[in-house]
Amino acid sequence: MLNLEQMRKDFPILNRKVHGKQLVYFDNGATSQKPRQVINELVDYYENYNSNIHRSVHLLGEEATEKYEIARSKIASFIGTSVPESIVFVRGTTEGINLVASSWGSMNISAGDEILLTPMEHHSNLVPWQLLAERTGAQLKFFNLTEDGQLDLSNMDSLISPNTKLVALTIMSNVLGTINPVKKIIDAAHSVGSIVVLDGAQSVPHMPTDVVDLDCDFLAFSGHKMLGPTGIGVLYGKKEILDEMNPYMFGGEMVRQVSLEKSTWNDLPYKFEAGTPNIADVIGLGAAVDYLLKIGLKNIHDHEISLTSYALTKLEEFSDRMKVFGPRDTNLRGGNISFHCRDIHPHDLGTFLDQEGIAIRAGHHCAMPLMHCLEVPATGRASFYLYNTHDEIDFFITILGKALNYFEK
Ligand code: PMP
Repeated sequence: MLNLEQMRKDFPILNRKVHGKQLVYFDNGATSQKPRQVINELVDYYENYNSNIHRSVHLLGEEATEKYEIARSKIASFIGTSVPESIVFVRGTTEGINLVASSWGSMNISAGDEILLTPMEHHSNLVPWQLLAERTGAQLKFFNLTEDGQLDLSNMDSLISPNTKLVALTIMSNVLGTINPVKKIIDAAHSVGSIVVLDGAQSVPHMPTDVVDLDCDFLAFSGHKMLGPTGIGVLYGKKEILDEMNPYMFGGEMVRQVSLEKSTWNDLPYKFEAGTPNIADVIGLGAAVDYLLKIGLKNIHDHEISLTSYALTKLEEFSDRMKVFGPRDTNLRGGNISFHCRDIHPHDLGTFLDQEGIAIRAGHHCAMPLMHCLEVPATGRASFYLYNTHDEIDFFITILGKALNYFEK
């Protein structure tokens, strides 16, 4: 059990009033709030040892380098690997996936190859593959979805064929909340020699992740959705695959030798970290990982499942007026709940809730093809995190009821 009252004190923003009302922050799928421990870590860096890393001969530079590399090791073990070189710092999930599509994709994909995706991908795990397919003449293929928003694996054996070179999918949908059976898909993909790229943006912050157990080839995730700063994210890749890949960006730090005509590349992970990296935010992400580990990912997941289950039951009250998407079974999903009310645009609903201090997301959630599958232009989405409470859900349900009555008058 989490000590919610105590924990919430770590998040200064949760005391905020919005339009004179107590903030209820249900937009964690977009970005999470930050605990004091992360904010303090950033302040400490800038106040006490701000300096560039890896090339300094002075104490501040050594301290910053040490903290930066300690954060890398922490993040490696957080996702279950003992190989810090397999952790590449990027801006976020988007950049991580683009790195793979650009570097691994250009070196390994050619005409006639197949790239297998799902219709529930965020644009950042769809558009880079579309462009790779266009560049190379490869073909995109897609799993189907079931009625309740799970992946339909009934035709997996025909979808995954010797032509499949890459499978890319999200572990948890940012819209439906669905947690995909990625291990099963990874095993099937590996049996035909395909690699698998996982989008962990919505799962890594909320449940334990073990890249060795999963045996995924790549995993991308974003610091800002897991209590960390914006502008920092992680691409994990198997070391032997990263070793074979060309760098994605070129410049300082990623080189070993440079002559006027030619250059050679630094070791992993530095060959993928050109230029001055986002030092402060890497260190801040290290503090976020410490915080998550202190609470425990299993505890966080259990708490969110409890909130999700409670919210789904309460939402049934509106079942004649509102459709809730995604699996009902909380063994199959996490805490992103999307809904759509006939005749009420999600933006209007979102604005109504905002007036009461409740922050939800309304829109296509960067998943336009999924909106098409769901046959809606947009949805409202409430997404939970470790600091949310059952009382907040009660308040949300009360105000949602008022909103429905107001708009349906
Ligand atoms: N994938 C998923 C499933 C996401 O939810 C998001 C963020 N909404 C992203 C990718 C992109 O993450 P970022 O904007 O941090 O790069």
